[in-house]
Amino acid sequence: MTPAIGAVAFTPAVPVVTHTVPVTHVTTVAPPMPMLGEGPGQAVCPTCQTTVVTEVVRTPGLMAWLIVAGIAIFGFLPCAFIPLCVDSCKDVNHHCPCCHRLIYSHKKM
Ligand SMILES: [Zn+2]
Repeated sequence: MTPAIGAVAFTPAVPVVTHTVPVTHVTTVAPPMPMLGEGPGQAVCPTCQTTVVTEVVRTPGLMAWLIVAGIAIFGFLPCAFIPLCVDSCKDVNHHCPCCHRLIYSHKKM
């Protein structure tokens, strides 16, 4: 005789034994890297652990020098060094006002 359609074979439940191993997580909480950009911003100095508003120092970076080279190649040598004086072409370095260490460097390129 064939089993009835729709009959489900019964399988006894197998007891599942789980062994839980205690896991200890050691996490070190680093100060989150702030989203510092063009202007001064609030950050935690990694050196003196103080929450500060950064001091901004602008220095000519790779982008400024590439623009200088591009202008010089096209023959406008007297105007070639103008990008070194334009703040928007420079990299922005964020320093701690307390210990004057570099916190973050915002590079254009
Ligand atoms: Zn500092």
